[in-house]
Amino acid sequence: MVSAPSSHRDAYQLAVDARDPRFDGVFFVGITTTRVYCRPACKSRLAYDRHRRFFNSAAAAERAGFRPCLRCRPELAPGRGVATPLDAVSRLAQLAAQRIAAGALNGRSVAELAAELRVSARHLRRALEREVSVSPLELAQTHRLLLAKRLLVDTDLPMTRVAYASGFQSLRRFNTVFREQYRMAPSALRHGRVTPARTEGSLGLTLSYRPPLAWEPLLRSLGSEAPRCERSVQIEGHVGVVVVENSAADSHLVVEISESLLPVLMSLISGLRRVFDLDAEPAVIDAHLSASGLAELVRRWPGVRVPGVSPDAFDATDRVLQRAAGVTSAQALLTRAERWRPWRAYAAQLLRLSRSEERGSVRNAAATHRHVTSITPIMPSRD
Ligand SMILES: [Zn+2]
Repeated sequence: MVSAPSSHRDAYQLAVDARDPRFDGVFFVGITTTRVYCRPACKSRLAYDRHRRFFNSAAAAERAGFRPCLRCRPELAPGRGVATPLDAVSRLAQLAAQRIAAGALNGRSVAELAAELRVSARHLRRALEREVSVSPLELAQTHRLLLAKRLLVDTDLPMTRVAYASGFQSLRRFNTVFREQYRMAPSALRHGRVTPARTEGSLGLTLSYRPPLAWEPLLRSLGSEAPRCERSVQIEGHVGVVVVENSAADSHLVVEISESLLPVLMSLISGLRRVFDLDAEPAVIDAHLSASGLAELVRRWPGVRVPGVSPDAFDATDRVLQRAAGVTSAQALLTRAERWRPWRAYAAQLLRLSRSEERGSVRNAAATHRHVTSITPIMPSRD
């Protein structure tokens, strides 16, 4: 079934009524009368409860024949966070979904991806079907269409470049799929639109997140100083510059990238989302850590993020960390840390922040993370 389980339905109805940003990207709501699907906080939605249908992924809404709202723009919603401890099937589905979001099925087969993940294609299909209610190919197609939709609206790139940058293998294929799925021509999205201003040779994008976001600590962890992060990146031989700033009022990062990175755009976006940990669900994580003895640290740094693949290990004998966690021995700290799962990495990050503050230096937090300071997106071919 593509509909969300009924246990979620009441919570989702309330979230939609309240336009609750914490649920952005956690689910989507389809309006059965218009066949359009929206983010939970969409401003244009007036449908009665009984005309709402809930989906746990944009791809599931598209499979059911809904098309993305032109106003709230589901293509900009953050991805799903890890809301519960994962079993093996969920982990596989999550990993596969990440690879697919990064373009792993653009011009490649499901069998190849499955082999890379060391499972059978059938097992991979089942895992994705269970977690996001769609097949690998449907998920890949939704990613391509949604990326194309945002490039059509947010850039003045020519149609051919939009098609290839979104992972389509030909302009014709792009046109056909777009018309079939969205019941309109790609060019229709550009009618009456103000052409976005841009610097020659570069491209502006936004990356949404669920607020709050502890931006300055995150930048420091990445070895950058506020207000921005600037990096040279190289992905599959394509070299360019990426500049990232935070627009807290809009709950998104503003990203400027060199046009030379366009051929690896999917991979780049997915890498940036990981490095800045934009799919985290701070409401869930902060509440859990607050209830597990870290309330004071959470209050000081709400929306803390864990950049890239960050360790959840820490030195339990460190007295400063023990004090920050409100305990007096290494054993007590380790016992307490068990309660922080599955978000121990976030707890470890909070402890590091409090230690670096205590030492009066922001350099410690940065130094701890020197190994993740470069924006290196996860390549489809790598573990
Ligand atoms: Zn909408």
